[in-house]
Amino acid sequence: METKERIAKSVPQKGFFGHPKGLFTLFFTEFWERFSYYGMRAILLYFMYDTVANGGLGIDKTTATSIMSIYGSLVYMSGIIGGWVADRILGSRRTIFWGGVLIMLGHICLALPGGITLLFISMVFIILGTGLLKPNVSSVVGDIYEPGDNRRDAGFSIFYMGINLGSFLAPLVIGAVQKNYNYHAGFSIAAIGMFLGLVMYKITEKKNLGMAGAKPTNPLNEEERAKLIKNSIIFLVVAAILLAIAGFFGWISISNAVNFFTVVGLLAPITVFIWMFTSKKTKAEEKSHLLAYIPLFITGVMFWIIQEQGSTILARYAEGRTDLTIGSFEIAPAWFQSLNPLFIIIFAPIFAALWVKLGKRQPSTPIKFSFSLFFAGASFLIMIIPAVLSDGKTLVSPFWLVASFLLVVFGELLMSPVGLSATTKLAPEAFAAQTMALWFLTSTAAQALNAQFAKVFDKVSEVQYFGFLGGAAIVLFLIMLMLSPWISRKMGSIK
Ligand code: GLU
Ligand code: ASP
Repeated sequence: METKERIAKSVPQKGFFGHPKGLFTLFFTEFWERFSYYGMRAILLYFMYDTVANGGLGIDKTTATSIMSIYGSLVYMSGIIGGWVADRILGSRRTIFWGGVLIMLGHICLALPGGITLLFISMVFIILGTGLLKPNVSSVVGDIYEPGDNRRDAGFSIFYMGINLGSFLAPLVIGAVQKNYNYHAGFSIAAIGMFLGLVMYKITEKKNLGMAGAKPTNPLNEEERAKLIKNSIIFLVVAAILLAIAGFFGWISISNAVNFFTVVGLLAPITVFIWMFTSKKTKAEEKSHLLAYIPLFITGVMFWIIQEQGSTILARYAEGRTDLTIGSFEIAPAWFQSLNPLFIIIFAPIFAALWVKLGKRQPSTPIKFSFSLFFAGASFLIMIIPAVLSDGKTLVSPFWLVASFLLVVFGELLMSPVGLSATTKLAPEAFAAQTMALWFLTSTAAQALNAQFAKVFDKVSEVQYFGFLGGAAIVLFLIMLMLSPWISRKMGSIK
């Protein structure tokens, strides 16, 4: 087995802003992957509910919104598979490559004129592809630094910038292409983006990444391999039978699928927690850490419930309730999707500098998590104002959405950069390979619930909707604030 030091030493340690050269490769791979993902999502919702005459699919708005959320939920859930495949079969590097190929195929499906069938095929490709690619690119970032290298945190911050730079540019470009040409042209830009990412990855990978992620860390032995094949066959057969039964009774419909995957999205984290908690490999002290992690996890879920509605409910608000004309110029609604990553790019360095300045006096992880809910709550509560002023009917100024996206980003910066590291510290050691996937499950559960909230949105008034979810976030903020000392104690020596 290669040691962590030897692996890191095989990576050229300088060459990208004073960071290992491998960071260049990983930065741009993730940049293009996020470019394709968020660019596609910026127009996907509109594509689904736009009329057929306009080149859309003509799905009703509520269903389209629920599909967006369930899709997002599954995209993050599949990280479980990606971590596992890399750890036990392919190694991170090959897993990343094949993930990228699937993602590109997914976008190509949408670039082709085709109906709802191609949409669902595309989703399957992108769900699996992202699950293979995303957790593994992040984990290779960790591998290119020697243990104890103090550049590592900065490396992750640069990488985080790559994510948001891709997410910022994509809606602008793809939104404009969609507006001037059509949806399929927009989706083809996403496919080209992922293609460029794959080319860069392949060209620079060997030179820049050395041995990092080259081999599975914990490869399957013969016996395990045989068992895997047997279990996979059983799983596929059972799934096919269940699907056939469901088809026979006429249970297969979009709305049943949405409900089914909501349940799956909520059961996934619960199962993982029970599995970790009852595992013999989990030490007593680690069980106490896991208990402390539960409230942090729930906080994460509440936060993503609001953050992820930026691309669903607020995207609808941008398109249907916002005045998009400035003089003779018309804003594309998809462009609002660039606000979140833009604010992240602007404020991430400011927050980072603040934590450095505060040093030991900076708030603890549980306190930061609590306040992320305060800002998320505020970002929804502020939407009550235009609802009241406009009587829920007349078009409102884009200012309100800008303010809402800004507030949620303050919360995101208190949570997203610390979320993964808190998970790393609190998850049992034996499950290190699943840590990334566990953190992504906050988003899985959140978006599973959002698929149901989408239905509520169309039944209640805006004041009720934003008031209820914003209020729930504020209540949870207060509860979390009270729980923080307990969580800190349970975390023990971990900060
Ligand atoms: N927006 C970030 C990304 O795409 C974080 C997503 C999440 O953790 O849910 O990487
Ligand atoms: N802020 C998100 C993330 O860090 C990007 C987005 O929502 O557009 O990737």
